[in-house]
Parts: sequence; structure tokens; C-alpha cells
Amino acid sequence: MNRRKWLKAAGSYTAGLMALGFSIRSFAQTADSDSANPMGLATSSEHLKPKPMPFELPALPYAYNALEPHFDAMTMEIHHSKHHAAYVNNLNAALLGTPNEGKSLEELMAIVSTLPAAVRNNGGGHFNHSLFWTLLTPQAGTKPSASLEAAITEAFGNMDGFKEQFAKAAMSRFGSGWAWLCRTENGLKICSTANQDNPLMDTEKANCGGYPLLGLDVWEHSYYLKYQNRRADYVTAFWNVLNWELVSDRYESGQ
Ligand code: MN
Repeated sequence: MNRRKWLKAAGSYTAGLMALGFSIRSFAQTADSDSANPMGLATSSEHLKPKPMPFELPALPYAYNALEPHFDAMTMEIHHSKHHAAYVNNLNAALLGTPNEGKSLEELMAIVSTLPAAVRNNGGGHFNHSLFWTLLTPQAGTKPSASLEAAITEAFGNMDGFKEQFAKAAMSRFGSGWAWLCRTENGLKICSTANQDNPLMDTEKANCGGYPLLGLDVWEHSYYLKYQNRRADYVTAFWNVLNWELVSDRYESGQ
């Protein structure tokens, strides 16, 4: 088929679809119409309900190159503007027109075992990355609060002990996932989740439950451009850009 013939065929196909659309609409209008409502207008207040707001990609609180040389600008830009954006778009698409449209991320996480995989994966992806960006800072030398430091000492011996155990969780996660520090009823706990799962999900109660104070993305997309297969170097770099003040705030105000 040459180009002209193809265009002609495509044109008649489109015209056919349009005609079909018109005939379906005409039929629907006829079926809806009655003497009291001849225009077939909606008679309930359904159309006055506010539409749930779709989720949005949050702006980064710093420039893409602000975390150099530890986290490089290109990785940050692709990670935020492509990967995170895709989770947001796919989450909105998965929720559109379902009874769960309009629920908060936390509400979705709490019932994730009952939801489709697309909501679990993309809802987790949106929550995890939104938290992750806020945990990073270009400001060097932030420190944990006295009470968080005391909790770290109680659970892991000291800060070095914590970093060692956290790195072990990050390194031993096979494939893609996250390492977490959580606040639980029994003090602080380190754990890891697969894929975009997180400690707020009802599926994670036994493995990695609690309130997430900090999380580290160990998907290859978060480090491969700069560190290639050296995940350990990326974990070490993370300590240089982690905002301990934010982690402390989460510890003080967490549930
Ligand atoms: Mn990621």
C-alpha cells in the first residue's frame, strides 16, 4: 500500500468511526429522553460532586544538581521527571473511575492487599519517592536529634552500628526494592521491602511494619549511571545527603 492509498484508507476508517459514534450518541439521547426531560439532561446531583483531585508529581525542594557529587544531576533528573512521574501517571490511570479514586496514599497503603497490582506498585512508587526526595539535602552535616540518637544507640549500639546494619539491609535486597528505618512499638527497626512496597502497606506488617522514618531506594535506576553495579558506594554516598533533621522530625511526630 502506498502512502496515498494508506491515507485514503485511514480517512475512511476515521469517517466510519465518527459515523458510528454519532449513531450511538443519537440512540443514547433518544433512550434517555422522556417528556419531562426532553433534552436527556442529568437529573441527579451526581454532576455537582467535586471530582477527586488526581495525584501530582511534587517538585523537588532543590535543583537536580544540588546533591553533586554524591547523587549526580542526570540520575536525579531522570529519576524524578521520568520514573517518579510514571508512577504518578500510572497510579491516576489505575484509580480513575474506581471506588478508590480520591483516597489518600496512606488509605490506599492500608488496604493494598485488596487492590490491583497497578495500585500497589504505582501507589507505593509515588509514596516512596515523595518521601525519598524530602529525605535528601544539599546541606552537609545535619544531625539526629538527641532523642533519635538515643533510640539509635539503644537499638543498634551506636551510629556506626546503625549504618552498618542499614547498609546490610540495602545490600542484601535482591533485585529492586527499598531499605527502611522504622519506628515501631518496640523501638527502631531496620528492614527492606521488594519492588515499591513499603512499611505502611498491610502486606508488610510482619516483615517490615511500622512508621517509616527513612527509606533508601535500591533500584538500579537510582544509582546505575554514576555507580554502575557498585550499590555499596551508593549507600555510602547516601549518608552524605541524608537530612537527619527531617528524619528527627519524623521520629518526634511519627505515629
Ligand atoms: Mn526509584
